[in-house]
Amino acid sequence: MSTNNSFDLTGKTAVITGGSRGLGFAIAEAFVKHGAKVVITGRNEAQLAEACKALGQTCHYQVFDLNDLAGIPGFVKELENKYGQVEILVNNAGINMKKDLQEVTDRDFEEVIRTNQQAVFALSREFSKKMTHRQSGNIIMISSMASQYGIPKVIAYTASKAAVEGMTKAMAVELSPMGVRVNCIAPGFIETDMSAKALNGDIDRKQKVLGRTPMGRLGKPEDIGNAAVYLASDAACYVTGIILPVDGGNAIGF
Ligand code: NDP
Repeated sequence: MSTNNSFDLTGKTAVITGGSRGLGFAIAEAFVKHGAKVVITGRNEAQLAEACKALGQTCHYQVFDLNDLAGIPGFVKELENKYGQVEILVNNAGINMKKDLQEVTDRDFEEVIRTNQQAVFALSREFSKKMTHRQSGNIIMISSMASQYGIPKVIAYTASKAAVEGMTKAMAVELSPMGVRVNCIAPGFIETDMSAKALNGDIDRKQKVLGRTPMGRLGKPEDIGNAAVYLASDAACYVTGIILPVDGGNAIGF
């Protein structure tokens, strides 16, 4: 029996947006552990530098605000010039906005859609050009339970994450014949700054979340890191177009 490790990412370069903290950092950490070279991106340079220091020599960072949609083609070019060909893109960066839907302005809505949906599309489009040219690549999206069922007070976030799941399937059918797999992780409620903001100080919401999570606890960022390693690796070589909940059963909880 072969002892080759199909989860090994040695020799592969991954770009992880929003890799400075939370889920992105955990994905970067898991990728580094499995041998990948990673480039994490974000707006806050001090946080990126700190994260890279913690992750070691195979981690690099690039400062870029994903809201600069027009700058994305140049950003992708710069990344490949600097770090070589990128085999894996993880569209992790995202923002949330908790407000009653009647209070959400058009500007608020647009802000969330731009970061969580338009930037994800533009970055995937640009990287996919490189990947299909090489007949090889891997794109991982991050959605949310907000696209599995209705959650109050996160209307723009919900719209953006439903779009991310739709794009996963649409991209998978166009790109998989050209060697690029596209998949999505739908995290449940995971302990990060973002979930702390949404749940701490709103005990009813937190109890509701835990009440419908059969495993009875929030997830850990490394749970998402491990799922991303699976999807990025050869262990998932026949997997494309899926939405993988990593949620302690939250999506199917009563
Ligand atoms: P955090 O708020 O902890 O981290 C968000 C990351 O995204 C940061 O690194 C931030 O870096 C980066 N980012 C945000 N806006 C931009 C931008 N305009 N340009 C570049 N980078 C940006 O979030 P989480 O780790 O909790 O969430 C990560 C992803 O997982 C998100 O897509 C989120 O929607 C999703 N998710 C999280 C869940 C959870 O329970 N935590 C549940 C379901 C989904 P910087 O500030 O430096 O720009």
